[in-house]
This record gives sequence, C-alpha cells and structure tokens, in this order.
Amino acid sequence: MNKKIALSFCAVLFLGIASAQKPEDTELYTPVPAVVTPGNTIGQPPSDAIILFDGKDLDKWEDADNPDKPANWIVKNGILIVNKKAGNIQTKQKFGDYQLHIEWREPKDIQGQGQERGNSGLFLASTGPGDDGYEMQILDSYNNKTYTNGQAGSIYKQNAPLVNPNRKPGDWQSYDVIWTAPCFQKDGSLKSEARVTAFFNGVLVQNNFTLEGPTLYIGHPSYANARQSLCSIKLQAHGDKSKPISFRNIWIRPL
Ligand code: MG
Repeated sequence: MNKKIALSFCAVLFLGIASAQKPEDTELYTPVPAVVTPGNTIGQPPSDAIILFDGKDLDKWEDADNPDKPANWIVKNGILIVNKKAGNIQTKQKFGDYQLHIEWREPKDIQGQGQERGNSGLFLASTGPGDDGYEMQILDSYNNKTYTNGQAGSIYKQNAPLVNPNRKPGDWQSYDVIWTAPCFQKDGSLKSEARVTAFFNGVLVQNNFTLEGPTLYIGHPSYANARQSLCSIKLQAHGDKSKPISFRNIWIRPL
C-alpha cells in the first residue's frame, strides 16, 4: 500500500468509527439529582439546608474557646449581635465540604478606620480553641481603605476579592460560600489544599481560590499544623472599638 492509499484508508476508518457513535452515548441518566425546593426569595434556605441560625436561638452554636459552654452572643428581634466580651462562637456540628449562606450588617453609624471598622470574620473551618482556621473577612469596606487582601470578601491575608460589591453600613449583606475542605493523609501530611468560591451580595469575589493554609496574622500560611478536614464554622468577635455587627439567616448544605 502506498502512502496516499494508506492515508485514505485511515480517513475512511476514522469516519466509520465517528458515524458509529450516537448522541445517546454521552447522555447520562444516573445518578438522578435530588429534587430541592428553592426558597421564595434570595436568602431563604432551600428545603435540604441545615439552619444554623433562624433568628430564635443559638442552639447550634457554642463558645469557640470553651466548647463545653454555650455561645454567649445576643439574640434580639430575630438577629444575632456579636458580644465582643464573650469571644468567638462556633458551630457544634463539624463540616467538610459545604455550601453556606450568611447575612451580616454593619451598624449604620459605624466608626473607625481600616481594620478597626466593623471587623468580624467568617472562619470557613476552625479546628478548635486557639486555632484561627481559614478566615473570610467581614469588615465595612464600603468607603474604607485597607490592604486589599484584608477587605470584606477577601480570604484574609491570602487573596483580595475580585471586586468590591459592599453595600453601605446599615444595609444587610450576604456571603454565599462553596468550601472544599483540605484533605490529609493518615500521617497528617497534606493530600489536597482547601479551595473556596464565594459570592458577596450575589457577586463572585472568590473563584475556586486555592488556600495556602489556615489564616495567619503574621507570616506566610502553610498546612504544616493543619490536620483536620471536618471542622466547626466560626464567627469572630474582633477586638476593634466600633459597634458590634449583626448576623441573620445562616444556613448550610453539606456536600
Ligand atoms: Mg476579621
């Protein structure tokens, strides 16, 4: 067979195989995605969510530094207000990968500058007392200059938000977060890093960002001392002097 005939033979063979393929070959019917009823409006939990705060009590939360003690923040008129003296609070239940919704509000008359202006934080995974975990910053960044990887919507000291969709103080704001927990080998060494995708007031601010390790205030993060995939979710009682911020409508869907 000369070269030209050989090439023609290959082309015919290829076309023959291609035509033997059917559309159905790439159409999957199982597993069937579960039916979930969405909330009526943005912010209302879907039917399969675990409600972490519904405006009534803190039954799902505990003191982060003393997990045997109840969470001692203020529940009033359906909202949760940070009690700075009481310290951080965290969920009793531990989570791996999840989708989380949380709403927060800065006081209308917020004062202070930079990191001292309505600072709190959503710790996406916190392994226990004394461990900061992985912080998505909460701050009034409506008109407040600070380092970009420390403004609202940032993964604190690791990644600035893609944009700044802050609403003004006094307005409710939302985070919707998709968290992929880090995985570890049996010997504690890292198998895969944590990743996060996040929407701030419905706008994408973190796009499948790979974290370098748990949040550090000083120094570069690493997974050297991180060992856990299943963690509590923690809310920060920051020591700034501005009035405390509020939360409402917190729910989660483990993945
Ligand atoms: Mg903070």
